[in-house]
Amino acid sequence: MIFDSHAHYNSEAFDQDREEVLASMAPAGVSRIMNVAAEMDSIDQIIELTEKYPYIYGALGIHPSECQPLTNEYLDYIKKEILAHDKIRALGEIGLDYHWPDPTKEVQKKWFDAQLDMAKELNMPVIIHSRDACKDTMNILSAHKDITGIIHCFSYTKETALQYVDMGYVIGVGGVVTFKNASKLKEAVKALPLDKIVLETDCPYMAPTPYRGERNDSRYISLVIDEIASLKGIDREEVEETCYKTTCKVYNLPE
Ligand SMILES: [Zn+2]
Repeated sequence: MIFDSHAHYNSEAFDQDREEVLASMAPAGVSRIMNVAAEMDSIDQIIELTEKYPYIYGALGIHPSECQPLTNEYLDYIKKEILAHDKIRALGEIGLDYHWPDPTKEVQKKWFDAQLDMAKELNMPVIIHSRDACKDTMNILSAHKDITGIIHCFSYTKETALQYVDMGYVIGVGGVVTFKNASKLKEAVKALPLDKIVLETDCPYMAPTPYRGERNDSRYISLVIDEIASLKGIDREEVEETCYKTTCKVYNLPE
């Protein structure tokens, strides 16, 4: 059983064949999917998908690159929606992305902070997006105690990965681990305890080799499992089962 801990099936990349793609998940062994919000206008569609498909759960939150138009009123709206829907199991994706100049670091930090406060108030796990912002992300998360969740699409060193594990977080690993030049992530995967890793696609992005650059979907997680199994020298069944259990635990779902 595979749990895709991070997907974006609301993306327009799936507009032509969303039902077909989602119908093909169970036969491929994908039994649960966490569909994650990024933009303000994705919130309603995320909720709709959880209502339509029994195996799809949702996370609501605003991505750092999308946080410029955010307001406190809109955060209140998100809070209400989280409280009203039992299948919304996390707050995300939230964080810092310094790869792009906009929004400014100050704006990103302000809304990251505010959304972490909301996670604590609601006692919800968080899904963290952090790109080119290792130090600030660590500082801000360290300042917010009693919050856990997933460091998604992890891109830093193995030392940083282990530090997050010490803080109670687990590490999201997806298609990038199959890339030839991803030696840093491969080292982190080797160093991490298996039960601190969760599998993810970030689809439609981040398709694993040999599909790199194409549209990704949760069926390709099989290739990520193979890579992790080979890096750790264990059976793929062990990877699949352990990551499934960890993901259920993080999102407070029964196995
Ligand atoms: Zn994502």
